Amino acid sequence: MPIHADIVVLPGDGIGTEIVAATLPVLEAVARRHGHTFAFHQHDIGGVAIDRHGVPLPESTLEAARKADAVLLGAVGGPKWSDPNAKVRPEQGLLAIRKGLGLFANLRPTKPHPAALGASPIKSHLLEGVDILVVRELTGGIYFGDKTRSETDATDLCRYTVAEIERVVRSAARLARQRRGHLTSVDKANVLETSRLWRDVTNRIMREEFPEVTVEHQLVDSMAMHLLSKPRAYDVIVTENMFGDILTDEASMLAGSLGLLASASLGDGKVGIYEPIHGSAPDIAGKGIANPYATILSGALLLRHSLGLEAEAASIEAAVSAALDAKVFTADLAAPGQAVSTTQAAQAVIDRLP
Ligand code: NAD
Repeated sequence: MPIHADIVVLPGDGIGTEIVAATLPVLEAVARRHGHTFAFHQHDIGGVAIDRHGVPLPESTLEAARKADAVLLGAVGGPKWSDPNAKVRPEQGLLAIRKGLGLFANLRPTKPHPAALGASPIKSHLLEGVDILVVRELTGGIYFGDKTRSETDATDLCRYTVAEIERVVRSAARLARQRRGHLTSVDKANVLETSRLWRDVTNRIMREEFPEVTVEHQLVDSMAMHLLSKPRAYDVIVTENMFGDILTDEASMLAGSLGLLASASLGDGKVGIYEPIHGSAPDIAGKGIANPYATILSGALLLRHSLGLEAEAASIEAAVSAALDAKVFTADLAAPGQAVSTTQAAQAVIDRLP
């Protein structure tokens, strides 16, 4: 059934404006093919918002995001705003909007494409068939606990509530149910009390609510090793905030280029934030050479998770895959002299939409 969706668009800084501008025509083309209408509402976040409004997340941006069906974001930050002593910084806008929308689960799919295997530092034969979804808890744990500092010591409190664990484990288990039905929960239960609580809650939720999904527990140190030595063994991985922060960066190495990896941040409601995992790449900003595929694939996640348009999401993923098969590569992946521009790469996706 055709739908109407209001999508808040936050290009942000650096290549953010270029990759988002390249992605909107892809979403429009998908909408046209399926009879949907998408209204895009552009707002400021990050450095550009500091310049125009004095704050990295203007109230008007948050308000618009709250009313929207979904948010598509480029990237924030850059040398202009990178003074570590500055009181307002672009990244504060990201944290504030995630908190403001109550987003607690960060999803990062990693499915190395056959045509890009050579770009990964991992041996190609280990990467064939890898299809992992890491679900990272986003609002709790040591990053948000009380902190103390004296002349001679410092502390960071790691705290998790049962409710915080339940909601992210449920999200991950639902996703596992739609995929291959296997959940790996990562913790450090041999040492940390928060991890022992995490494990108990996970076991109860899985037993009572998801008997059809198999669950295994893995300590974070051995997970770091297995993620590289046998990545094919994993389907959905769920973990707490800091472990997830580290493991998602490690998992990104499986795909080779940062320019291919999408992410979604979800809460209990339907509105989520969809963005590439890379930053604003000031070194290549303004040149029209950034890889738009990660942002286009984030658009696919937006269709799937916020708008419930699975077939449309899959059509974008298939079109990106076909463009990669045809070696339509931007400079980060291309052989010398073979690179296409950001807009050419996006057009190649549109041309390959079923
Ligand atoms: P980065 O991800 O911006 O860039 C790292 C390297 O990867 C650069 O060489 C860049 O050119 C390349 N790269 C990244 N995305 C690419 C793409 N789509 N196509 C081709 N090449 C690409 O990380 P950084 O250089 O550490 O950070 C630059 C700025 O971005 C900083 O201000 C940082 O704080 C910010 N940042 C923002 C986010 C975000 O908005 N979520 C995430 C990470 C970093």
